[in-house]
Amino acid sequence: MNAKTPRQKMPEQKPEDRIKNFNEVPLGYTPEVAVIEAGRCLQCKKPQCVEGCPVNINIPAFIKEIAGNNFLGAIKKIKESSSLPAVCGRVCPQESQCEERCILGKKFEPVAIGKLEGFVADYEREKEHLPAPVISVKKDKKVAVIGSGPAGLTVAGELAGAGYKVTVYEALHTAGGVLVYGIPEFRLPKKIVSYEIDALAALGVEFVTNRVVGLSESLGDIMKRFDAAFVATGAGLPAFLNIPGEELQGVYSANEYLTRVNLMKAYKFPEYDTPVIRGKSMAVFGAGNVAMDSARTAIRLGCKEAHLIYRRSREEMPARHEEAHHAEEEGVIFDLLSNPVRLIGNDQGRLSGVECVKMELGEPDESGRRRPVEVKGSEFIIKIDAAIVAIGNGSNPILQKTAPDLKCNKWGNIIADSETMKTSVTGVFAGGDIVTGAATVIEAMGAGRKAAKGMIDYLETGKW
Ligand code: FAD
Ligand code: SF4
Repeated sequence: MNAKTPRQKMPEQKPEDRIKNFNEVPLGYTPEVAVIEAGRCLQCKKPQCVEGCPVNINIPAFIKEIAGNNFLGAIKKIKESSSLPAVCGRVCPQESQCEERCILGKKFEPVAIGKLEGFVADYEREKEHLPAPVISVKKDKKVAVIGSGPAGLTVAGELAGAGYKVTVYEALHTAGGVLVYGIPEFRLPKKIVSYEIDALAALGVEFVTNRVVGLSESLGDIMKRFDAAFVATGAGLPAFLNIPGEELQGVYSANEYLTRVNLMKAYKFPEYDTPVIRGKSMAVFGAGNVAMDSARTAIRLGCKEAHLIYRRSREEMPARHEEAHHAEEEGVIFDLLSNPVRLIGNDQGRLSGVECVKMELGEPDESGRRRPVEVKGSEFIIKIDAAIVAIGNGSNPILQKTAPDLKCNKWGNIIADSETMKTSVTGVFAGGDIVTGAATVIEAMGAGRKAAKGMIDYLETGKW
């Protein structure tokens, strides 16, 4: 085996089959194929791949274990740095992180680091469990975690592992954050997330669901009962287009649409009778992962024409390459350099069309991307019966409204120290999307790890 062995392809459900189901698209490596792929790694002395990983997983070390058929040894190495490898192996943007830096990529294709990570995590979950960590010393201090996405789950795991009593408060009826309400089953099966949550519960973490901190009680009330708190409430406030017609029946925010389908299982009708409009011709506005997830979900619910409408060009699309590729394979129509200007309704107030205008790219704007400029007189109409707005999310504002001392920036993101994740309120830490704005799972986990360190330091020393 050597670097010239081609990168091992991941088998996938065929597009014509998968658009009829919500099962996961990639089918996973077999142990034999994983060992071949692991054998491609050069075991670099100064591994650039590790530099590209936001939580600095010891990538060559875990790959070496796979190459030697020691899959449990591999997962142990990964878990030294990451608590959700089965999730990250599936949804991390590896192509712009670890794999982008892999030295093999200069001449050949990079090692499939993400797929190997997913493989060993699945192996451990399905075939041979690692023994549960032993908590050697129980501490008498109590910690509250508010929000149960990847940031909150990471802190809960680290602090419970260090012996603290952890209670997680979650607004929704199921824990997991975007991993359960946003990312669809065909990209991230929910049994994987519930396995991780069960493992935390087995460590002694208590989950309190249906509890919106800021409505049922304030952060101040929580701090009367706990010695420290970690706020990880995420960026779940949808942005809208602010164009005429957005109030029409049939227009969803991506959050609402995906929550109805994923968390509330509308795709399992009639077993679950959550209502959702199953449009035949739909528009999705935006071109990030959320937009791709929405369009691919719509297709699986029977949409014949799913238009992805985006004002810039393919090059600027923020979605992962793999997601855009899968969406195209499944028949999503990319209407690029097009911008919606008006949503059109029928006389019953239902959405019936969208008027768009063509765009061209001008000079770069402050984001470094070329600014889209309207082409005068290029308006056109697409007939649609449902639309999904997926143009971004702002920070969840509810908790902050009853925490006047918690400093936030002008976008409502909580201000936290970039190393310790301390906020302006003594004992309160924050991290993940609520601090950075909408970002990635691994960045949220990275913030969780930093916060856990900062919190343990504070709980041990009492120094702020
Ligand atoms: P979240 O995951 O948002 O979790 C926050 C939790 O806090 C939620 O469960 C929320 O209900 C809860 N909450 C909010 N307010 C309160 C309150 N007042 N009281 C109690 N609980 C509260 N990232 C990737 O890396 N790869 C991808 O492929 C990818 N795809 C995505 C697809 C979709 C559809 C979406 C929406 C996002 C995607 N992301 C992806 C982004 C990623 O999921 C987020 O960056 C990540 O989940 C942020 O983690 P978090 O823990 O900060 O917050
Ligand atoms: Fe292996 Fe690539 Fe990392 Fe080198 S850069 S250690 S080849 S994965």
